[in-house]
Amino acid sequence: MTEVSEFFSNLFNPDSWPARWHCGRWTAFHGWLYIISNILIAVAYFSIPIILYYLIKKTKNKLPFQKVFWLFFLFILSCGFTHVFDALMFWFPIYRVSAIVLFITALVSCAAVAGLYKIIPSALALKSPVELEKIIAERTKQIEISNQFLLKANTELEASQKLSEKLMKQKDEFLGIVSHELKTPVTSLKGYTQVMALKSSEEDTDQKNMLLKMDTQINKLTKLINDLLDITKVEDGKLLYNIEKFRLDKLLEETIDHIQYTTTQKIIVQRNEPVSVLADHDRISQVINNLLANAIKFSSEAMEILVSLTTENNTVVCSVRDFGYGIPEDHHDAIFEKFYRINREKSYTYPGLGLGLYIVKDIILKHGGKLWLESKEGEGSTFYFSLPIQSGN
Ligand code: ADP
Repeated sequence: MTEVSEFFSNLFNPDSWPARWHCGRWTAFHGWLYIISNILIAVAYFSIPIILYYLIKKTKNKLPFQKVFWLFFLFILSCGFTHVFDALMFWFPIYRVSAIVLFITALVSCAAVAGLYKIIPSALALKSPVELEKIIAERTKQIEISNQFLLKANTELEASQKLSEKLMKQKDEFLGIVSHELKTPVTSLKGYTQVMALKSSEEDTDQKNMLLKMDTQINKLTKLINDLLDITKVEDGKLLYNIEKFRLDKLLEETIDHIQYTTTQKIIVQRNEPVSVLADHDRISQVINNLLANAIKFSSEAMEILVSLTTENNTVVCSVRDFGYGIPEDHHDAIFEKFYRINREKSYTYPGLGLGLYIVKDIILKHGGKLWLESKEGEGSTFYFSLPIQSGN
């Protein structure tokens, strides 16, 4: 213990040894060869850690095995110090400090060896630049193959898209021709039915009833044909609008009066504010008719339908509320699509092609308005449409 305490208390005391110049028989050449070599080694040893530090920082701490780099940093640095002390010894024989520096270097060297040993498996697993290039070449080839495959698939998709567009066009043309051809005989049929109804004797109630039913069926058929005709026009953007100024409240009244004859349900007008709009009279009448017809059709067991027309700022909002089956929320957007009908048990007992709301939406949007609904299954539905108001009623 006394040796240790004597060692540390005389750490920088050079008295026990002569300076190295006076120890043995050094010639100037021999001494300076030794000193300069030590200094050059030390300079090289101090430069290496600087380069290592630069590498670590430049690669933003992403160098593989970075901890081992730091250990080497310390190892080489401490080696540098051992050479500095070896040279200093020619003038300052501080052998105790030199021993400490050697000891620290020994510890760091062992740690560097242990660190190096630990990374051997991972270092061996690292790919060489040649191997990496090979992998990249393989991947590039794979990407090229998938690219070619995608290009081919894309060409095929484009071709099938073109074909499907062509078929859709043909279908639309077919629908247009068929509905047009159907319209003339159906109009004649309606005319004959009305003449027959006029000519039939008042007493023959059976015949009168039958003619009335025929007329109703012909009206339904006419509506379907008109929807089909409209749809082809909507698709081609050929639905023309005859814009004029008219009183929407009066149109609503007339339409309700007209449709009230066809149903036992009571259509109640809750509010009907006087308001003028700039729009196509017949097309807006078609919108109201459609919403009312749907309300009647899909609430056959309910007693009443509520209608309201209100104004707010520069907009008029018309609502048609029924207390029928309602529409589940996941169908709220889809019912405005072409040919969309909700697939429910009773659906097919009601006539319709799923075109009405699609056409209604197009008409309202073309007028700068909006169409929307609120509905819950089993609780009925409310359909709304809004239109801009023509100022100066
Ligand atoms: P359709 O001619 O079949 O009535 P629409 O486009 O007018 O075509 O309506 C699309 C579908 O939306 C209908 O088939 C029906 O399922 C549903 N629908 C429309 N209005 C109502 C309503 N008031 N109540 C419940 N369902 C409705």
